[in-house]
Amino acid sequence: TPGVRPLIAGNWKMHGTLRDAAALAEAVRAGAAGTGVELLVCPPFPYIHMVAAAMLGQRVAVGAQDCHAAAKGAHTGDVAAPMLADIGARYVILGHSERRADHAETDAAIRAKAEAALAAGLTPIICVGESEAQRLAGDAEAVVTAQLAGSLPEGFARAGGVVAYEPVWAIGTGRTPTEPDIAAIHAAIRADLVRRFGGAGEGLRILYGGSVKPANAAAILALPHVDGALVGGASLVAADFLAIAAAA
Ligand code: PEP
Repeated sequence: TPGVRPLIAGNWKMHGTLRDAAALAEAVRAGAAGTGVELLVCPPFPYIHMVAAAMLGQRVAVGAQDCHAAAKGAHTGDVAAPMLADIGARYVILGHSERRADHAETDAAIRAKAEAALAAGLTPIICVGESEAQRLAGDAEAVVTAQLAGSLPEGFARAGGVVAYEPVWAIGTGRTPTEPDIAAIHAAIRADLVRRFGGAGEGLRILYGGSVKPANAAAILALPHVDGALVGGASLVAADFLAIAAAA
């Protein structure tokens, strides 16, 4: 999208040791100088503080992969958005399909988490995307539109919120939609954002996620309304993650 700085975000999921995280962060930091895009890494909770400290004053932002909807309280094992902001996170991925599946997260729950993120000064990256059955039934756009309506909070555009389109069947599978199919969903998401938020929706970033690799990144990132990528597997290899960033 013209005038929009692309965001290349790495979702490290539940991988690696503290040493791995430190080495990966250092390699991304060292390679970040050469890219004109915004870089973001989202480590597992226990490593966020260390990675954020390593990225302090650097060109790489740090985010989390989830947060709780409450700012504090009796929620054993959960992590609050203000805690994430406190340890240096600036973004939080919400509603990833793995959380929707593993933790039965609904659109309403994701919206509540996004409100907590906004209140804590974090930028939410809200994930939407259809299953393979929904795609085959011709329902991809309707599914995504319904997810957006249910999960984006009121203050989303004002805070520069990010949408990630991640077809569930493309995550970790090596398969991606065709370029016209990606462009069609991204155009539908843009139209939806503008309908809901007016002019502010024009400049919000819409990321594509699902089996983005160095080999397909340039073609995908050149599509209209693709303003970056959410990268899973390839974000665990610094050279691949940086190659994707260089393709943007
Ligand atoms: C993801 O889970 O956000 C993702 C895009 O994973 P992968 O790149 O491994 O398909």
